[in-house]
Amino acid sequence: MLVVILLAGCGSIRSSELPVVVKRTQMHMGTLVSITAVAPTREIAQIAIEAGFHEIKRLEQLLSTWIQASELSQVNAAAGQRPVAVGPETLELVLRSLEMAGLTEGGFNIAVGPAVEAWSVTERQHIPSQGELQALKPLVDWTTIQIDRQARTIVLPKPGMRIDVGGIGKGYAADRAVDVMRKAGAQGGVVALSGDIKTFGDLPGMKGFPVGIRHPRQEDAIVATIDLKNEAISTAGDYERYFEQDGIRYHHILDPQSLEPARKCQSVTVIATEGTVADGLDTGIFVLGPEKGMALVEQLPDVEAVIIDDRGRMAVSSGLRSRLRYP
Ligand code: ADP
Ligand code: MG
Repeated sequence: MLVVILLAGCGSIRSSELPVVVKRTQMHMGTLVSITAVAPTREIAQIAIEAGFHEIKRLEQLLSTWIQASELSQVNAAAGQRPVAVGPETLELVLRSLEMAGLTEGGFNIAVGPAVEAWSVTERQHIPSQGELQALKPLVDWTTIQIDRQARTIVLPKPGMRIDVGGIGKGYAADRAVDVMRKAGAQGGVVALSGDIKTFGDLPGMKGFPVGIRHPRQEDAIVATIDLKNEAISTAGDYERYFEQDGIRYHHILDPQSLEPARKCQSVTVIATEGTVADGLDTGIFVLGPEKGMALVEQLPDVEAVIIDDRGRMAVSSGLRSRLRYP
């Protein structure tokens, strides 16, 4: 987990006046997903949590590239051949991804999949050759992805191109899960897919939900905490999935220019209204680096960030400075 939720353990708290708080954890999208619901009754909390998990499972069936029948897998399988019709969620996520790519000068790039696979940082410790990486360059050009909004189709023009929503999908899923939890009657809650977290409402007796930002080099240490209210937080870090060889750290966030691990940051935490934005931008800003990244954050309304650069120096966006608490 890149960001930790500072809640008392599982189970529920009950008093005569306060709403109930229920938390449950399951594995989805290849990660630990925990959902907390604040509701007038235990039954409503349970129903809201169930609805949240159900929504995440539904989205996983559409978006996972590990599932062969998923809509995105079908888009990828048809690369260089034909357009593929997709549902509204897949279309929306791909459009939002392209928007995040535009904001981050292509630092965020959902076409980077072939290079992610060449590295396979979590599966093996293999450093692809420059020749191997350069050969992939034409396949990672996100500007060639064609979308027909009316027909709701996606075209990947070259064989071997692939869409990988690993850098934004969990934030999107958190947004959608919160929507269904509200509809199910929860008055507050947290949906956390590993370090991609979306909150709504408050914990009883508190202002929002307290969340901690991990130290990128000291395990179990926190650099700051913050209370989130109707906000999402997401962290991209070089310390979660990586291997080391000859003293060099090779991690899972690739710079689409070099197709090598991005080197300018240790971690980027973004706070935004939407999880989709927080998750897309954390990855994109990680690639952009601290200067351009912070300049972008200061330009965008309702987006804040904590950026820790390659030397461990921490920068905090102007709207966040009075809100962070330090250990
Ligand atoms: P996580 O929360 O799982 O650590 P991140 O938001 O940090 O995810 O995104 C990392 C994942 O995004 C990688 O595992 C890979 O699948 C994909 N990815 C890697 N580099 C990029 C990039 N430059 N743009 C978009 N996605 C990327
Ligand atoms: Mg991300």
